[in-house]
Amino acid sequence: MIAGPLSTDAWESFLAEQLQRVVRVSYSRARNTPVEAVFEGPVMRLRLHRFFAGAPESVRGSLAAWLRSGRRARRASTELDAWIDAQREALPPQKRRRPRLTTAGTHHDLAALATELFATEFSEDFIVRRRPATTWGRRARSQARRSLTLGSYDPHTHIVRIHPTLDSAKVPEWFVRYLLFHEILHAALEHEPACDGSHRFHGSAFRRREEAYRDYERALRWQNRHLPRLIKHARKGSPAPQAVDRRRRGIQAWLFRL
Ligand SMILES: [Zn+2]
Repeated sequence: MIAGPLSTDAWESFLAEQLQRVVRVSYSRARNTPVEAVFEGPVMRLRLHRFFAGAPESVRGSLAAWLRSGRRARRASTELDAWIDAQREALPPQKRRRPRLTTAGTHHDLAALATELFATEFSEDFIVRRRPATTWGRRARSQARRSLTLGSYDPHTHIVRIHPTLDSAKVPEWFVRYLLFHEILHAALEHEPACDGSHRFHGSAFRRREEAYRDYERALRWQNRHLPRLIKHARKGSPAPQAVDRRRRGIQAWLFRL
């Protein structure tokens, strides 16, 4: 039995015994990722929110089971999830105001599209980690001539943004959904260890999942075809045009901020 707040040392020895591996534990105040495990060879580096210092015995067991088996440890995942939610709610409100989120567009509803993705493509990804929020970006004139950030994911605020110029009847819903998929995938794989030490990149796991996505090919084709017009309209600060047809060659654009 461990009495009182759990030190990181206590966690390390408990988990080492449970998982039969070397575990390094640190505490953080990251609300969005209360549990984060990164592997460095045989060593598991585990970052836990401070509230784990008060985890009761059953939650400690659930965390170990979840680290060992992931979602397959169904009961453990459910218990852990519920406990984390309760801890999070008990935390004092954050000082920084959350940015205003607007999911309902004139033509496309990001919340509905994201709900669909969370139920299908991402049904396994956000068990412990909170789902990212989604919003249309602010309508401001774009300065860029040759590029446009159609979507982005901010790991600090855990928010996915889609460029408002895409809120148009002429932009197919499946294309907006694909952009959301791409950015939510960044949130899902945020802590995947990458060889360059960065997590914001399209690594092999990212590419594998993106290429398996049902609309991937046609989304790329649509994007290549319509990007010049989208850029033009973003510069005017207006939604996508009524007729998008002209194809321009030679334009290189980064569609996503990594
Ligand atoms: Zn990306």
